Amino acid sequence: MLLSIIVSVYSACHSFLALTVPTADVTLAPQYQLRMRAVDLIRKKRDSVEHSREEIDFLISGYTRGDIPDYQMAAWLMATWIRGLNRAETAALTESMLYSGEVVDLDRIPGKKVDKHSTGGVGDKTSLILAPIVAAGGLTVPMISGRGLGHTGGTLDKLESIPGFNVNLSLEEFISVLRECGMGLIGQTAEIAPADKKIYALRDATSTVENIGLICASIMSKKLAEGIDALVLDVKTGSGAFMKREEDAVRLAGLMVETGQRMGKKVVALITDMNQPLGRMAGHSNEIAESIDVLSGGGPADLVELSVELSAWMFFLGERTKTLEEGRQLAEKMIVSGQAKEKFKQGIRLQGGDERVIDDPRLLPQARSHADVPSQSAGFITTTNCEQLGTALAMLGGGREKKEDTIDHAVGLEFHKRIGDRVEKGERLVTIHYNSGAKLAEAQSLIGESYQIGEVAPREKPMLIHRTLGV
Ligand code: URA
Repeated sequence: MLLSIIVSVYSACHSFLALTVPTADVTLAPQYQLRMRAVDLIRKKRDSVEHSREEIDFLISGYTRGDIPDYQMAAWLMATWIRGLNRAETAALTESMLYSGEVVDLDRIPGKKVDKHSTGGVGDKTSLILAPIVAAGGLTVPMISGRGLGHTGGTLDKLESIPGFNVNLSLEEFISVLRECGMGLIGQTAEIAPADKKIYALRDATSTVENIGLICASIMSKKLAEGIDALVLDVKTGSGAFMKREEDAVRLAGLMVETGQRMGKKVVALITDMNQPLGRMAGHSNEIAESIDVLSGGGPADLVELSVELSAWMFFLGERTKTLEEGRQLAEKMIVSGQAKEKFKQGIRLQGGDERVIDDPRLLPQARSHADVPSQSAGFITTTNCEQLGTALAMLGGGREKKEDTIDHAVGLEFHKRIGDRVEKGERLVTIHYNSGAKLAEAQSLIGESYQIGEVAPREKPMLIHRTLGV
């Protein structure tokens, strides 16, 4: 089996999980003892002075209401990115963002409610696959997702490549979709974690994404607002992840598990490899089509493996199966029997989308042109700069560079080679699907430079690197 598992029991790791940059232990200087103003809080964070819970509440509620402008929040985010948040500040931020809206009450829906969230990567489309698998298997999956962030893609943007698909359901509509089919995928709304909705877009545009405290608060505030019983976290590490180093991924995983447990949820975090794109496709229409492939019993092995593993954990934490192995079998059964694919069709229909894409993915937006990126030398692929691949995709219109940017859903990358594969000089590494050629040459060279070719094949890395348990 490909998976090599090192189990680390979360509770043993407290000291190791101490947060990024410690804040200074100082008595407040007179300039900080003013009545509360955003400018003073920016200065405090800039000077590494710890925030109180009230100060964090003031910032988050003020920004969500529109009283604190983007430029002040952007400055605070950058100060926070540099100085870090300690454990108490992270807890306060998470709760403040969570209670910026409602916590959904799903008690009216019988059975367990389970969700999964990924910290983000390139080609990471597992949500689109496991939501129908797990709903078909009998659990409820109320999924509040995000948009693309930095070089990574977002589930909501991907779903919007399905003609008519509405990710902006009201709370009542969301609950009614969940009741009817067991899965619903929406974004944060004015009702659910509105603070994250605003802050997420601002972080994307101000290069303030990769901070453990900010990521924890962003993910956990929207997940805890969902009214779930259990949560599976997929924490990515590697060149295409926000956490490039495994030790940072472990710390983020531990912090999120701790946060979820404090709120009474069952949580597990899997730390998985993101040193290369997941599957063969990146881009919006492309990823929907590849997800349909997996739900039809095909698709690339790495994507199938991870989707089954995450679904198995959801079945297990949701008490649908007694063991993880039974969870894997149930996930596979939902695919082979076609039930998961039917569930996806139903979910698309209920959210206003054109369900015919399931049988005919050509109904998804298609790019007008294609161009290959050939290998400059012969040998074995040793590494990829996966973040750069995501950046090239965004540059072609398949992501956002500013928060107002619209996405071209047809733009995509098709990967022909994976780490360890043999490649000949001139053989294609990637095919670009594009509409505008304005940045094509730049994107082609960025993609070409992302692949390192050597004489010796590297050792295969397992997909699942580590597991942090909070159950
Ligand atoms: N995913 C989120 O929802 N938030 C982050 O900050 C990073 C990844």
